[in-house]
This record gives sequence, C-alpha cells and structure tokens, in this order.
Amino acid sequence: MRRIVLKVGSHVLAESGSVVKERMMALVGLIHDLQAAGIEVILVSSGAVAAGYTLLPIDKSSLANRQALAAIGQPLLMKMYQEKFARFNKLCSQVLLSADVFESSEHTAHAKRAVDTLLANGVVPIINENDTVSVDELVFGDNDRLSAHVAHYFDASLLVILSDIDAYYDKDPNCHDDAKPRKIVTHIGDAELCAEHTPNNEFATGGIVTKLQAADFLMKRGRRMLLASGFDLHDVRSFLLDDRHEGGTLFLPGSEAQE
Ligand code: ADP
Repeated sequence: MRRIVLKVGSHVLAESGSVVKERMMALVGLIHDLQAAGIEVILVSSGAVAAGYTLLPIDKSSLANRQALAAIGQPLLMKMYQEKFARFNKLCSQVLLSADVFESSEHTAHAKRAVDTLLANGVVPIINENDTVSVDELVFGDNDRLSAHVAHYFDASLLVILSDIDAYYDKDPNCHDDAKPRKIVTHIGDAELCAEHTPNNEFATGGIVTKLQAADFLMKRGRRMLLASGFDLHDVRSFLLDDRHEGGTLFLPGSEAQE
C-alpha cells in the first residue's frame, strides 16, 4: 500500500491565537478520503503552542513559555483531532518524537514498529515533536525537518507540506509582485538552502528555507515532496486522488527527473 506523510503548519491550523476548526475538519476529511483510496497517511501536526495559548495566554517570546504552552496545548489539539476523526468512525493516536530518535537505529525501529502497527489497524498516527525534551522545532523548523525524517525513516514515498503558501516561488512573493510559482524542482542550490529564515507569523518558525531543506533531504534519498496550500486543499486532492498536478511545487529526486 502507498504510504505518505502529511505535514500541516501552525500557520494553517491557527489564526489570531487559536486553532481554526474548519481547516482542521477539512484536513481530517482529506485524510479520510485518502484512506478510502487505499493510501496510508501519517500526519505531522503543529499547532500545540497555539492551542495552549487559547487556555493560558502567556508571553510566547520565551522558549520556556512556548514549551509550557505546547505541553498545555498538545492534549487539547489531540482532543480536537479525536472528535473530528470520530465523525468518520476513525481512531487517531499521538506519537511524540524528538530528532534524536532518528540518530539511533534501535529507537527508529521501535518507533517505526509502533507506527506500522497503528497504520495496519487503520489508526492515524499524529506526530509532533516532544517539546519538553527537545526544542529544535520550537526554536526553528516548525516540524518541517521532523516531517522529512518521518517520511524517510518510516518509508513514505511522498511528504506533503501543507503551508500558508501554495507553492515555492522563484523569488519571495512577499517582496516581488512578479514572483512565479515553480511547478517542478529537481535541484536546490546552496544559496537557497542557506537563505535567511522568513517566518511571517507569530506562530511560524519555519519559513520557506526549512521547507527547502526538508525537500533537499528527501530528494537526496530518492523520495518526493509536494509543497501545496493548506488553506485550499484542491491541489493536494487532485494530486493525490486524481493523479493530476495542477498547483503546488513537486520536488523530485534527480533519478526520477531523468527518466
Ligand atoms: P507554514 O507556517 O505554513 O509552515 P511558513 O510561513 O513558515 O509556513 O513559510 C512559508 C512562507 O515563506 C510563505 O508564506 C512566504 O511568506 C515565505 N516565502 C519566502 N520566500 C518564498 C518563496 N520563494 N516561495 C514561497 N514562499 C516564500
């Protein structure tokens, strides 16, 4: 069976300090349809800090406070997912990981076995960083890097990053009106991978650079990544369910590009 990883950014799930229920519902509906089409889906979800902030509005600029907010918000986020999956008679599950899991082949094997078992039972694994023991993604990355590791080590053929932007543009669309979306990317240059980070929302720490780094990591390992809009799921639906690449940027490993 085909396996994919879907990553949803905090920018998509949260707005003005709280989780947007309609967007979460649309995402859960998409996952249900993908499963019905025989696709195994692992979800990597940000949004715990935003969810926590709705219960305890403390200053998010301190890292310790963001860790505390993530600890408060993670169960709330999971409760919201559980309620939405229950409408489709589906179970979901919480899998908290930190990047160092993937530095040990033994820990990676344990985590993969748990995820494989959840998927085999039709349960959706919802992965997030364990923010009390590991702060990498809270500081930098917003789960882009974590989702690339998850896709590679848990053997998914594709990572889909659902973002507040609908594609990777040839220049920063915030500064250039004539920026054009790129449809297919087969190589990412060093300058692009090291560009300044561009978070433009209080809950976003990733920006486009961490998405390019995630794509580069996967392309070098023979895997694909699609960057598409998380606000309007039309492009990701047609790509995954109808095999039509309308919008969004597809990052392809060199081996596939030459075929
Ligand atoms: P999310 O929270 O959805 O994971 P981010 O806001 O962290 O996403 O990162 C995506 C943002 O990066 C876009 O909204 C856009 O403002 C910015 N950006 C900068 N340069 C580019 C580019 N060349 N192509 C696309 N987006 C870019």
